[in-house]
Amino acid sequence: MKQEEKKQIFVTRASLPPYEEYAGLIKELWDTHILTNMGHLHEELREKLRGYLQVSGLELFTNGHLALEMVLQAFELSGEVITTPFTFASTTHAIVRNGLTPVMCDIREEDCTLDPDRIEELITERTCAIVPVHVYGMICDHERIEAIAKKHGLKVIYDAAHAFGETEKGRSVASFGDASMFSFHATKAFNTIEGGCVCWNAERPELSWLGDRLYKLKNFGITGKESVEYVGGNAKLNEFCAAMGLCNLRHVDEWIAERKDGYERYMEDLSCVKGLRLIPHPADIRFNYAYMPVIFEGGRAVRDRVYEGLCSEGIFPRKYFFPCVNDFECYRDEPYMRATPVAKRMSESVLTLPLYPELSGEDIDRICGLLKKLM
Ligand SMILES: *Cc1c(COP(=O)(O)O)cnc(C)c1O
Repeated sequence: MKQEEKKQIFVTRASLPPYEEYAGLIKELWDTHILTNMGHLHEELREKLRGYLQVSGLELFTNGHLALEMVLQAFELSGEVITTPFTFASTTHAIVRNGLTPVMCDIREEDCTLDPDRIEELITERTCAIVPVHVYGMICDHERIEAIAKKHGLKVIYDAAHAFGETEKGRSVASFGDASMFSFHATKAFNTIEGGCVCWNAERPELSWLGDRLYKLKNFGITGKESVEYVGGNAKLNEFCAAMGLCNLRHVDEWIAERKDGYERYMEDLSCVKGLRLIPHPADIRFNYAYMPVIFEGGRAVRDRVYEGLCSEGIFPRKYFFPCVNDFECYRDEPYMRATPVAKRMSESVLTLPLYPELSGEDIDRICGLLKKLM
C-alpha cells in the first residue's frame, strides 16, 4: 500500500457532539457576553456532573492538573506524600509544585495500581497524604489504602483522571477518600476540550469548608471585592468548555457502550495469545473502557518491536506509562527518588492500543492480527 493511502489510527480520538448541538448552546454567549468566571453554563455543568458522578461535592477547573494541584493546596499539606510512579507526569508534578516530597511506592503486578502491602513501610513522621491513581480506570484497593491512612492520620486524594463515571458495587469512585480529581481533557472518556474537577463527599462535616476553599483558590484566592485571603491561581473553566461538557454528557453513555464493544473484541482476540497478558476487569466494577493496555511478557524488546511495527503500518499505540516518573530527567537524581522494580518492569512491557468509540471492528481485527504477527 502506498503511504498516502494508509489510514492512520491513533491511540485515541477526541469525542465531539454534533456540531449543531454545540453551536446551539454557545449562541447565547453572543447575547450575554459572559464568557467565563463561573457563568451559567459552568453552573449547569457542575450540577449535571454532580448527578452523573453521584457525588455531593464537585468543583470545576480549567484542567485536571490544576484541579489536583489546588486540592493538594486546599488541604494545607506539608512533608511527604506517598504516590505511584506508574502514572502521567501530572500526578507527581502536582505534589512537587506544592512544595511536597513525593515518595514512590511500588505497584501491584496484576492491575498496576498502588500496592497496599508496600505503603506502611514508607510512612514516616513527615508523611501527610497518599495520592493513588486509578490507572487505566482500574480502581485501587481503596478500602485497604484508606484503612492505612486512617490508622496513621493521613489524607487520601485520588488521581481519578482515568476513572470518569466508574462505580464499584454501585458506589461512585468520586466518593472515595478525602477527594478525587477527574480530567476532562480532549483525550479522556469524557471531555470539555480542556477541563477537570475535584469531587468529595460534602456530607462529611469535616470537609464542609472544602468547596468554598477550592472555589477561591481557582479564582486567585479572592474572597471579596477588597480581600484576597489565599495565594490562589487562575483555574476557572470557561463557558465554551462548559458548553462542550454539557453536550458531551448527553452522549457519554453511548460512547462508553461503543468503547466496551471495542474492548470486548480486543479481549476475545488477544486473551489466549502466548506471551501476552491482559488486565482483567473485576465483575463488580462498572468501567468506562477508556484504555486498552496489553503487557508483553517478553519485556521491552518485544514491546518495542511491536510498537515500531504497528507505527510503520500507520497504527500509533502509546507506551503508557513509559518511562516511570522516577526515571524522568527532572526527578531521577533527586535524593528522595526510590527504585520501584515492579513499576519499572510494567512500564517496559506495556503498550496501550487504540480504543475510542468510532474505532471499527475491522480496524481492531487488523491491529490484533498485526500485533500477533509482530510478537
Ligand atoms: C490526563 C491526566 C492528568 C491531567 O489531566 P489534564 O486535564 O490533562 O490536566 C493527570 N493524571 C493522569 C493520570 C492523567 O491521565
